Amino acid sequence: MIYFDHNATSPLSPPARSAWLEACEKFPGNPSSPHRLGARSDTALNEARERLAALLDCHAAQIVFTSGATESNNTVLHHLARATPNQEVWVSAIEHPSVLEPASFHLGHRLRQIPVSRNGMVNPDWLQAEWRETKPALVAVMAANNETGVLQPWSEILALCVESRVPFFCDATQWIGKLPAKGLGACDWVSGSAHKFGGPRGVGFLKVPQSLAIQPLLRGGPQEESRRAGTENVPAVVAMVAALDDREQQIARGEHHRLAAARAQFEQSLKALLPGSEIVAADTPRLWNTVSALMPEADCQQRWVVKLDKLGFAVSTGSACASGKEEPSHVLRAMGCSSADAGRVLRFSAGWETPAGDWDALLSALQSVHELTADPQKKMARASR
Ligand code: PMP
Repeated sequence: MIYFDHNATSPLSPPARSAWLEACEKFPGNPSSPHRLGARSDTALNEARERLAALLDCHAAQIVFTSGATESNNTVLHHLARATPNQEVWVSAIEHPSVLEPASFHLGHRLRQIPVSRNGMVNPDWLQAEWRETKPALVAVMAANNETGVLQPWSEILALCVESRVPFFCDATQWIGKLPAKGLGACDWVSGSAHKFGGPRGVGFLKVPQSLAIQPLLRGGPQEESRRAGTENVPAVVAMVAALDDREQQIARGEHHRLAAARAQFEQSLKALLPGSEIVAADTPRLWNTVSALMPEADCQQRWVVKLDKLGFAVSTGSACASGKEEPSHVLRAMGCSSADAGRVLRFSAGWETPAGDWDALLSALQSVHELTADPQKKMARASR
């Protein structure tokens, strides 16, 4: 299978795998236990905390380990709902459902959506204009969108928030491990997830504001300074940090520039090969690995996913759907896309190890699916062969 669904999850990287195996052997104790085996696990946990904090540029005490970004995001909204009972909370319209749904559940009428432009970006001017009237208790804007890959101007928004003393929450799940994490630690809240950058599934983190007692989502234990109850998964945390360390080195070596060039070449060829196809947010800064493309036919995304799967390619429609019944993507709708156009979108997301040849192979597969769909005669001829 040729894998183009790294934004959904990315395979465990070799450094993460060896770090995980080694930590399983070396740290069998519970980090909260009073004996030497417990202390050893606690030391490993805190070394990982120090290293992650250094990568994000914040204090180790501000890192809370969680089960992933969904839990981290829920924790932020759960805390906000209780800590600021009356003020509005502003959340961008293109956030992941793990931000949008708890926001609407916990905040009700206090929730206000920040719109995006047609290119899928939040406009910082909107914030400045709006908070002349009233200041929110929090602004939440993700670093990079999981469906379109569009990079949000998070550092500009952070600067505005700092100036106006508005706390800023950045879901950096898709950014971290693809672009430098440095600087993100200046945001009040930051969430991240290991399995998006080669770490194991089921582990992530939340960077919290300095010296703030947060309202925990999980209660019943003193772990993580009583900010998240439950025995810490030491091997998973150690592997997460090993994975991120490795990705940061790849970023520092500039390996993503070559990968971005392969993606750009694919996008050029796709438009030429499939007339009527369109790249979403083509001229906007995006993650180097992500292509969100409208296919030529209406309402066709599920058929394309199935046909590509049969040809050996794992691709996605972009909008995760738990029930199996696809709703038009809220991200594309927020960008002004019609429901019919949102039903034409496919997402191809590459990984650090995707060779340029895989993009060429995907292009050929897309071309053959297109030809078969457009020309039923060819389809019948193939079936009778
Ligand atoms: N936020 C974003 C932007 C994501 O892409 C995802 C994963 N699709 C999540 C949050 C949830 O992450 P996790 O799988 O760690 O719960």
